[in-house]
Amino acid sequence: MQLASVHFRQRASGALADAHLQRTLERFGSGFADKRAAARQAYGEGAFEELRDACAVIRDRALADLDAWLLRFEEEATRRGASVLWAEDAAEACARVLEICARHGLRKAIKSKSMLSEEASLNEALAAAGVQPVETDLGEYILQLAGEPPSHIIAPAIHKDLGQVAELFVKHHGRPKSDDIAQMTREAREMLRPHFLSADLGISGGNFLVAETGSVAIVTNEGNGRMVTTLPRVHIAITGIEKVIPTLEDLSTLNRILPRSATGQEIENYFSILTGPKRAGDTDGPEQLYVVLVDNGRTRLVGSVLQEMLRCIRCGACMNHCPVYQTVGGHSYGWVYPGPMGSVLTPVFQGLENALDLPQAATLCGACHVACPVKIPLPELLRSLREMQTQRGLRPWSERAAFRAWAFAAARPRLYALATQFAARALKWMGGRRGRIARLPLAGRGWTEGRDFPAPEGKTFRELYRGGQRHKT
Ligand code: SF4
Repeated sequence: MQLASVHFRQRASGALADAHLQRTLERFGSGFADKRAAARQAYGEGAFEELRDACAVIRDRALADLDAWLLRFEEEATRRGASVLWAEDAAEACARVLEICARHGLRKAIKSKSMLSEEASLNEALAAAGVQPVETDLGEYILQLAGEPPSHIIAPAIHKDLGQVAELFVKHHGRPKSDDIAQMTREAREMLRPHFLSADLGISGGNFLVAETGSVAIVTNEGNGRMVTTLPRVHIAITGIEKVIPTLEDLSTLNRILPRSATGQEIENYFSILTGPKRAGDTDGPEQLYVVLVDNGRTRLVGSVLQEMLRCIRCGACMNHCPVYQTVGGHSYGWVYPGPMGSVLTPVFQGLENALDLPQAATLCGACHVACPVKIPLPELLRSLREMQTQRGLRPWSERAAFRAWAFAAARPRLYALATQFAARALKWMGGRRGRIARLPLAGRGWTEGRDFPAPEGKTFRELYRGGQRHKT
């Protein structure tokens, strides 16, 4: 997927001006968040918080000895007949997959949803090598027809409405237009079925890697995942190295929180555990099973102030609760991962200088942290990234100058009192009789682009406080 995160501001402005997109985002609204809230209530709010604690501990335990658990995973998976391959970056991940295709003479790949595959631009690499990639998750299939990247990690086509999907189906399926969802789903299934039956390669992601059994666990809501992992003769699971967890018991705990946090479901529709290829006597399953473990910047997080980000189980709850994501949509973020988790991951994976506005693309309201099933302190991580930006001189000179001036004054109480008195009087004067300022100067300009700034009374907080105390005595 092409990187466009440096253009966040322009893309977000475009999204805000796109009335169609705004209507679609409005319809999406708080749907997933409401479902999560209901699932949390049904589970018991206290018990749900205990579950969040337990899941955060499991993820931290795995990350504390990441190398050891990965080696254990490799050993156990290999013992059960799978081949484990390692890739340092996206290019190497694609190379590993293409080597497998060449070794087995593979020509068509059916895929279930994999964010790592998006990260590595795997579809483009496959197509360039003459291997046809076919997305089979309904949302991903729609986007493949549209030639667009996903805009949400669990509902990739959430930015498209029914009419747009119907148009796409007419164009690509050549059948009469329908806007009946059941009929459209049936139509997509009929289009995909021949691909399922003729593909020689299946590609999936992996929600978790279980070290003690060398298994890949896959969570889906559509049956495509099962077909992708069992029908073709070769299967490749491609996933990030941070997905490893020690035991099946850990998997069972994490899987209690994942669907509830993502879509509010008690349990997902399909939950598959791949352990080795087809054995003698098995009626289905791939003859060859490969697991490609990809770093692509993840080890940079280990031991850093951002390590907690590696706990992420890709549930999407942070974006479902983020007022910024819900207003500008996923494509504004300009890379694979949108919302608060993307605002941390994109600068780490792609370089802070290539995602200048993402750490600022948050109100720091804390809703993402409260919703995160593994308690990732996203607002704190975003603040750390902002600090790094300032340390590396990556913020505009005007902002840096303003903070320097503020720090200078804040360290000198008298000067600070004088400056704030002047500012309060000036703002009151600017508000005029209406008491509202239509256009703030300098750094405040953006704030008044879409609304008025209520002018203060002309007194500083200290003056008001002193006044209040006098009143009491
Ligand atoms: S950061 Fe937390 S809430 Fe967001 S996708 Fe990851 S696990 Fe889910």
